[in-house]
Amino acid sequence: MTTVRRLGIYGGTFAPIHFGHLAIAEEVRWVCDLDQVLIIPAAAQPLKPTHSAAPHHRLAMVRLACAGNAALIPSPLELERPPPSYTIDTLRICQERYGVGVHLTLIVGADAAGDLPRWRDPDQIARIAHLAVVERPGHLFDPATLLAAVPAFTGRITVIKGPQLAISSTDLRHRLATGRPVRYQLPDAVLDYITRHRLYQAGEA
Ligand code: ATP
Ligand code: MG
Repeated sequence: MTTVRRLGIYGGTFAPIHFGHLAIAEEVRWVCDLDQVLIIPAAAQPLKPTHSAAPHHRLAMVRLACAGNAALIPSPLELERPPPSYTIDTLRICQERYGVGVHLTLIVGADAAGDLPRWRDPDQIARIAHLAVVERPGHLFDPATLLAAVPAFTGRITVIKGPQLAISSTDLRHRLATGRPVRYQLPDAVLDYITRHRLYQAGEA
């Protein structure tokens, strides 16, 4: 087993996972020199209602999407405990599992980074993890605003330009529900899974 010293923690709804997610995971892995990135579907987002696909479907799609990249590790960690999933708990569990010496980098898009002060225990999150914020088209991230709200992040934020892909799960769900194309925005294996299980049909987006 490879020793993991630098671990990325990448949570989200992943309903469904798309190339925007995968491209930024890979970018942060490279920029921050991470050994692995855990991709962790949330059981239920405390700040966001759940979407149609059941957690096991979202995890299955994450598994299909990560196949072929040994550094991207699908993780059922947040599905193994009752919702809601709080990032601070996830980080603590990762510290326990990988050892206190592990260097943790929490990966968020620019939109999610703006919400971070409203997450549970942002000060503790900043003490445990470094933050990689990936820019996202249509979303501005202002580090000064985050630092004013959570000073503990001082010196612990890396802003990453990223590939700037304007792909979102919300848009994909609408496209799927209305029969518009989604191909080339997510892995073929994920699209096959969606089709086979009739996910995100009309009335569900
Ligand atoms: P939804 O539209 O349902 O919110 P989403 O596309 O935003 O879906 P999430 O599962 O909410 O995907 O995102 C998980 C994480 O990935 C968040 O931190 C989000 O900011 C980030 N993210 C998602 N898509 C992109 C993208 N295209 N570029 C940069 N960051 C992204
Ligand atoms: Mg989102």
